[in-house]
Amino acid sequence: MILYNTLGGTRQEFKTHEEGKVRMYTCGPTVYHYAHIGNLRTYIMEDVLEKYFRYAGYDVLRVMNITDVGHLSSDADTGEDKMLAGAKREHKSVMEIAQYYTDAFFSDAEKLNIKKPDVIEPATNCIPEFIEMVQTLLDKGYAYIAGGNVYFDTSKLDNYYVFGNMNEDELQVGVRDDVSEDENKRNKNDFVLWFTQSKFEDQALKWESPWGLGYPGWHIECSAISIKHAGEYLDIHCGGIDNAFPHHTNEIAQSEAYLGHQWCPHWFHVLHLLDKRGKMSKSKGGFLTVSLLEEKGYDPLAYRFFCLQSHYRKPLVFSFENLDNTVQAYNKLVARIAKLNADGEPDLEAAKPYQDKFKEALDNDLNTSLAITALHNVLKGDISDATKLYLIADFDKVLSLGLIEAAQAELKKAAEAEAAKEAQKDAYLTEKGITRAWVEDKLAERAQAKADKNWAVADSVRDELKALGIVIKDSKDGASWELE
Ligand code: AMP
Ligand code: ZN
Repeated sequence: MILYNTLGGTRQEFKTHEEGKVRMYTCGPTVYHYAHIGNLRTYIMEDVLEKYFRYAGYDVLRVMNITDVGHLSSDADTGEDKMLAGAKREHKSVMEIAQYYTDAFFSDAEKLNIKKPDVIEPATNCIPEFIEMVQTLLDKGYAYIAGGNVYFDTSKLDNYYVFGNMNEDELQVGVRDDVSEDENKRNKNDFVLWFTQSKFEDQALKWESPWGLGYPGWHIECSAISIKHAGEYLDIHCGGIDNAFPHHTNEIAQSEAYLGHQWCPHWFHVLHLLDKRGKMSKSKGGFLTVSLLEEKGYDPLAYRFFCLQSHYRKPLVFSFENLDNTVQAYNKLVARIAKLNADGEPDLEAAKPYQDKFKEALDNDLNTSLAITALHNVLKGDISDATKLYLIADFDKVLSLGLIEAAQAELKKAAEAEAAKEAQKDAYLTEKGITRAWVEDKLAERAQAKADKNWAVADSVRDELKALGIVIKDSKDGASWELE
């Protein structure tokens, strides 16, 4: 499989440390607010990647953290602690906030057919691991204590800017107005591993540590949680592109300093979902959530389809107009699938070239829109309906668009509507004191009259039924009747 790697900035063959096994880490959500559909774009594309690894035969171990502590708006001990801000906003404890939004995240993920990672680890579960890692970094000389906090010393690394393009001057420009530089730092990019001195007097969660009562910095959790569950050699690390710097850059700095060797050779980043104001973000507010889409009558899976139609390495602009177009395309696809006849056995030989096309699309830097074209080509293909259904179910192991289920639901809905209509007819006939058999006899009488060219009788039958509120419909298959 060819996959773009932010480390090196090229498309390259994806390789694993151990043959046949993928150890995959994804930065999990900060749980101080609902995930917005931008966050979920990232999780949808990571879900496709994970499922494609499995489809391609890999044994996958996927680990995800839950950021329930330590996520400040910057590395300096300034800005605000987002968890604490959430707790204040909602008059709840920090842990209540974390639990509530963790549950909300997984409920949204489920609606989008995003599989749960094999390991889900809240940061607050791993304080001893963080402390051990920070202590080792101090012992190895990669960290220092200043003003009561422990900092990572970026000057100890030959190459801190592993992803390139991180021009110091640009970073200076990128520093936000509300963030003042932390005077304890020896170098501008040094970052906090452990805080004991916080500007937040009422910092809710603190733990004992060799450096005093405090709490972990922003980045340490992902390094420690990944190493705890996926070991010293990670195969691929994923996140939204905004995580590349400083979060992932700092993760790499501290993990490799701690381990003494390369930690993760492949970095997968999803570009942002944009709205009219630019990048959708939690801190800006006014963002869209899955619940909001549902309230507006959208099936969350239409949003998944929306994401899959474009490449993960391109920014994606969201608008309701674009989503409406996707809904139409999704409904058309489902309607075509609903028409397929499920009888018979699939022809696995005939299915193979279609599967090859599907794999070719995803092997090409996870080109999901081409994979959807491959799906359309199945529907157009000169193969049996059973083979088509087999292929759609097969592709949906990766795409997870719920296509077969949606088609079945459509058929069920149509059958129920038909049954309701027939029941309504029966009720009507009973009310009129007539039966279906009587109406059928009348239709037969009219058919005979027409055959005999006895138009007067044929017309009088039509009028008699019409007077009862029953309309005759003629078609090439003969006559049927409906209520007026
Ligand atoms: P957060 O909960 O803020 O830590 O974000 C969770 C994930 O969503 C991270 O991988 C972010 O990089 C990613 N993310 C944040 N904003 C966006 C966006 N507008 N579009 C796509 N991904 C995003
Ligand atoms: Zn992370």
